[in-house]
Amino acid sequence: MKIGGLQKLTLIDYPNTLACTVFLSGCNFRCPWCYSPELVLPKFIAQQPEIKESEFFDFLKSKKGLLDGVVICGGEPTIHTELPLFCSKIKNAGYKIKLDTNGSSPEMLENLFKLKLVDYVAMDIKAPKEKYIDTVGFEGSSGYYLIDKIEKSIALLKNGAVAYEFRTTVVPGVHTKEDIVKIAHWIRPAEKYFLQKFRPEKTIDPEFEETKPFDEEEMFQIRECIAPLFDTIFLR
Ligand code: SF4
Repeated sequence: MKIGGLQKLTLIDYPNTLACTVFLSGCNFRCPWCYSPELVLPKFIAQQPEIKESEFFDFLKSKKGLLDGVVICGGEPTIHTELPLFCSKIKNAGYKIKLDTNGSSPEMLENLFKLKLVDYVAMDIKAPKEKYIDTVGFEGSSGYYLIDKIEKSIALLKNGAVAYEFRTTVVPGVHTKEDIVKIAHWIRPAEKYFLQKFRPEKTIDPEFEETKPFDEEEMFQIRECIAPLFDTIFLR
């Protein structure tokens, strides 16, 4: 497991918590709009300087009392078998943990919940069911089982073991308004659903760097279509 980045302070990524974000390299998806090719594509991961685990834990020690939480993000953290051990070390250092995941490993999520190693989970819902595999460019022969795994992760979160949110980055050219409505009907009822506006930055598929995001009015209209399906729905 390689630590590919550390953001030393985030005020917005962990609800009501001052936190840092640790980025784990490697991902089993290839979302073309992904902002983090350096954490996803092996050729870029190899060029990325590694942060030693000992440096990260020294940092946590130095911030005790100033920060309360750690956001574990990727890439996709749940592909790493070492994740439970990593989480337990963070917990032992006295921090709460938020995990960002694409939901492809309900087995890992279940294990983390059983061991009480995470406090909050944000799960990306990438597309409506019938478009999922094509949309995320899933690699490997087990693509056929991906939807089953995503649905298991959705159900696990809705069982309420930890606080959670679902979220979708809304990308023109990938998603239509109808797609978001389909996603909403698929995952409802749910505590919190966030619609995130796509930002054309560096992306895995460079074509998306030219993609114009939906404007505020379009995002608001999408939100209005599905607002009755959720207790809490926000635009980011
Ligand atoms: S956006 Fe997609 S490709 Fe990028 S890290 Fe998340 S799941 Fe992986």
